[in-house]
Amino acid sequence: MKKTKNVSEYLIGQVSERLNDIGCPVCALMKKSVNDYIDTLFYESVNDPGERRDFISGHGYCSKHLFMIEKHLDTHPDLGILGANILYSDLFELLEKAINDEDIKIGNGCKLCEVERNAQKRYLEIFADYISNPTRLDEYNKSISMVCLKHTHMIKKIKGVDFSSFLKVQKEKLHRLEKAMEEFIRKSDYRNSREPISRIEGEGWRVMSRFLE
Ligand SMILES: [Zn+2]
Ligand SMILES: [Zn+2]
Repeated sequence: MKKTKNVSEYLIGQVSERLNDIGCPVCALMKKSVNDYIDTLFYESVNDPGERRDFISGHGYCSKHLFMIEKHLDTHPDLGILGANILYSDLFELLEKAINDEDIKIGNGCKLCEVERNAQKRYLEIFADYISNPTRLDEYNKSISMVCLKHTHMIKKIKGVDFSSFLKVQKEKLHRLEKAMEEFIRKSDYRNSREPISRIEGEGWRVMSRFLE
């Protein structure tokens, strides 16, 4: 069994914890990294000259991450909105140029995209290490979590990965998902409505939605 590098128990545990959640563990851990970054940024770093420089030189943040910040600040009222006002105020000069149709694309150098890319690289490697152990691959197989289509392709490119074993698991998961959705449809018929619905049957549509995220 080839191992790319020795990943700590803590990081392995991070993957393990995500297996009981619907969706892709790599996507979930990436999102967590970005949310942690946003949290620190608005908790203490908004006045940090480096952060403000990155914000301006990246022409602000992209729309996806602006939305993530909005959601984060909505769900963490303790962070307040002063930080967002301070940071975003730096953007007016650029916006003036952008509205005059100058060749400026707001958010094209988004710092949070960079944070996300770095987290993606890191967690793809950690996940590859996770599944390099057959017992853990089996745990992943049995779990409700499912690595998304995009990350399935990306795992193929990681050195030392037994991709054919992983692909086999992914195909088994897809097959079970298909069966689960068929079962849900069948049980939705009033004649079968007394039959209990399992978690994967009830949430299959969501599993697929996250697979394609
Ligand atoms: Zn993913
Ligand atoms: Zn971004």
